[in-house]
Amino acid sequence: MQHQKIKGLVIRETNFGEANRYITVLTEQGMKIEVLCKNARNSRLSAAIRIFCFSEFTLYQRNDKYTLNDAMLIHSFWGVTQNVEIYALSCYFAECVTVLTESIEHEPQITKLILYALRAISEQKREQKLVKAAFELKIMAICGFSPDLSRCGACLKPVENQVYFSVREGVILDKTCKERIGGKDFVALSSGTYQAMKHILSSEKIFAFTLGQDSLNQLSIICEQYMLYHLGRGFASLDFYKTLY
Ligand SMILES: [Zn+2]
Repeated sequence: MQHQKIKGLVIRETNFGEANRYITVLTEQGMKIEVLCKNARNSRLSAAIRIFCFSEFTLYQRNDKYTLNDAMLIHSFWGVTQNVEIYALSCYFAECVTVLTESIEHEPQITKLILYALRAISEQKREQKLVKAAFELKIMAICGFSPDLSRCGACLKPVENQVYFSVREGVILDKTCKERIGGKDFVALSSGTYQAMKHILSSEKIFAFTLGQDSLNQLSIICEQYMLYHLGRGFASLDFYKTLY
């Protein structure tokens, strides 16, 4: 039996039996592991193993099974559970991470992204709509589904004026190529939306931008559609979040 210390974020918890709990931990290295916690509800450890706690876990590992021995809370995003909308959005982020880490292992950028996103929505300094859109586009890019916004997808030249974007194709066109090709899928992006998408894809501080309401609405629609289309699925937590507003 191996004994090890791992830092990570609890992204799912399931209670079972009298006082036992399974937690899903997204580790600092971006790996997702399931941990069995015995006597979870009564133990002094309970503050460190709730959903949206970032903690240091001391684990026993046997094959690919982990059992909790000790846990120390480093930072709690437990505050996100105090507001139903923020909690629902956090659960959506956790579900996105759960799904996207099925096929990708050891991607530390995913852990960093969800930690930034939880901090941004719990501090409430940025609009939920902005954080959600940036999270969706960035997680897709991290997982290898980045759109190409650097040049026209047809003539391969830089686009200097009006930009058209297709969610399905994940590329942009300039006006001449859009008129020549007649791509029905391509919608005109506002310059704010286009700049915001480029910022999200290239910057570390992905939430550090502001947008007018029309561009923010467009960004929000495009990023959500882009994610759902390219993953070919929906999310129960997203459906629930949308019932709240
Ligand atoms: Zn072109």
